[in-house]
Amino acid sequence: MTASKIFRKNIVALCGGVGGAKLALGLSHVLPPEQLTIVVNTGDDFEHLGLKICPDLDTVLYTLAGVNNPETGWGRAEETWSCMEVLEALGSETWFKLGDKDLALHLERAHMLASGQSLSAVTSHFCKQLGVSANVVPMSDDPVRTMIETPEGVLSFQHYFVKEQCAPCVEGFHFEGVTAAHANRAFLNALDDPNLGGIIFCPSNPFVSIGPILELPSIRERIGSLRAPRIAISPIIGGRAVKGPAAKMMHELDLPVSSLAVATHYKGLLDGLIIDQVDASEKVEIERHMASLVCPTLMNTLRDRIDLARSSLDFLKDLT
Ligand code: GDP
Ligand code: CA
Repeated sequence: MTASKIFRKNIVALCGGVGGAKLALGLSHVLPPEQLTIVVNTGDDFEHLGLKICPDLDTVLYTLAGVNNPETGWGRAEETWSCMEVLEALGSETWFKLGDKDLALHLERAHMLASGQSLSAVTSHFCKQLGVSANVVPMSDDPVRTMIETPEGVLSFQHYFVKEQCAPCVEGFHFEGVTAAHANRAFLNALDDPNLGGIIFCPSNPFVSIGPILELPSIRERIGSLRAPRIAISPIIGGRAVKGPAAKMMHELDLPVSSLAVATHYKGLLDGLIIDQVDASEKVEIERHMASLVCPTLMNTLRDRIDLARSSLDFLKDLT
């Protein structure tokens, strides 16, 4: 029996959208739901067409519910687009795509939020309705907005990511609202839990997916001084990001595009980093900063997601 099969402790996973959701799905297959708290970035959230959009939260929710669109990495499978077509005919903004089924969730979320419910309560309700038993929590119920600093000025995250398709050069980031935001109570409780078995930084974008979570008041300090082991899975494989702008951002920030640079970025917060086999040559250098585990980290299939989740739990156990 591998260690993960007998893992009895609680796990906190920090996660963004696509990369995070893949590992979150793997973890949800190997841990009982009550042992897994998935804390999701809300720095990408914004208001659009009068609706609150939560891209990372919805990617995680749809992925765990098995209704995500694996081709796009956002939205639902088997979508239809009637509403978008009419919006276009009405001369409305259509740069941000919302399929009909996806829109239904957004309408219900808008309705529940308007009736005074918190984003956490709405998320928990959707989990229940969609048959997701893991504990998925937004990092905060308060608004935090990731802003991208570029030579053309400061852009909101979705403006940079969707409208400009990540073309502007990144000079830095800041997170509007973060100092006044409260980290989710369930997140804080999970970190304080005496039965915490470890924290996993999913292979999400370190700057704009994990970054906002770490910037919430007290979180960096709490994770920095945690007794339970802390690991990350590198989102960089062979000098490239699997998807999204992580590698482009590292290059523009004058960082080497490598797992070693990911280790350096997270220094002081981690006990170990999981890197892909193709980056095995970086192991020695990484181990000047923290432990490392070399294993396959590219998650194409469900099997890959489960195997990486198991390796992560085994690594946590080794570091305990
Ligand atoms: P986003 O919010 O949708 O951009 O998603 P995340 O921040 O959670 O994930 C984006 C990151 O996931 C990128 O930096 C990718 O390199 C990484 N990623 C995606 N798929 C994989 C994978 O299969 N393995 C690893 N190691 N990283 C991945
Ligand atoms: Ca995201």
